[in-house]
Amino acid sequence: MRLIREFDPWKNSLCKCPPKYTFNPYTGCKFGCRYCYITSYIKDGFTPRIKDIDFYILESDIAKIARSRLPIALSLSTDAYQPLESRYRLTRRILKILSRYRIPTLITTKSTLLLRDLDILRDMNVAVSITITTLDHDIAEKLEPYAPRPSARLKAIKQLAENSIPVVVRIDPIIPSITDDLNDIGEAVKTFRDLGARHIVASIYKAKPDNLKRVIEAFPEFIEQYRKIYEKGKRIGGYRYPELNYSLKLLSQVRDLVKSAGLTFNTCRDGLAHLDTPGCYCDGSHLLIKPNL
Ligand code: SF4
Repeated sequence: MRLIREFDPWKNSLCKCPPKYTFNPYTGCKFGCRYCYITSYIKDGFTPRIKDIDFYILESDIAKIARSRLPIALSLSTDAYQPLESRYRLTRRILKILSRYRIPTLITTKSTLLLRDLDILRDMNVAVSITITTLDHDIAEKLEPYAPRPSARLKAIKQLAENSIPVVVRIDPIIPSITDDLNDIGEAVKTFRDLGARHIVASIYKAKPDNLKRVIEAFPEFIEQYRKIYEKGKRIGGYRYPELNYSLKLLSQVRDLVKSAGLTFNTCRDGLAHLDTPGCYCDGSHLLIKPNL
């Protein structure tokens, strides 16, 4: 295949996702989330550009993956519905082809622009993950300066669910000291459930030097807590992990909140897979209809 790639978690043994394909319609992302890792390997990662996609080749790749029956994930290193998509509509065009070939599709986004494509999505075998790290407007504005506000993302959950599209909410990453208040997380989980979300993924922020610098710039008052939590953690796959006891305690509590809300739960590369609901995956692929439509 020439454009579509097999999903590669870069040999990260903590990734428990089943095999799938992946494609990013854009390079980089305008949303500029302070904790985002893409800037560590994409030059000018927050200055997005469109990909010069040869749609003839893309369709031939899609025809090949149709035989595998594996899902495709759009997009793991960009947001397929960032502002460029309003103008260039690459994601919409790709969805139309995926729909024609009945490819099971996983979409992760923070954007309400995907509601524009409900006409296509509602006839696809698709699961959508909406990332909401906090419902606090002010914190979200500092953490995710150019992404749609959390209140808008809540509306997206509702509309997707009303259209019978399975919705995962990713509370990812939980940022220690900033978005880790359990009462807030519990209220958020109930809100997500009431709007129709079916599955919750929660994961703790794993730091890279450049994104940690951005987080601390926005929240300098937490620098000491960060030293304590991250200096005791391990370095795994190029990321600085928080102290294991911190992650284990917090994610166990979040798992309990999710369970009592009647939803299923996954962590994501935290090394705590024993907290996951059996048969569920953090990419939401268990919500796809199998085999192909
Ligand atoms: S939306 Fe995703 S890809 Fe875009 S900046 Fe935020 S974390 Fe990075």
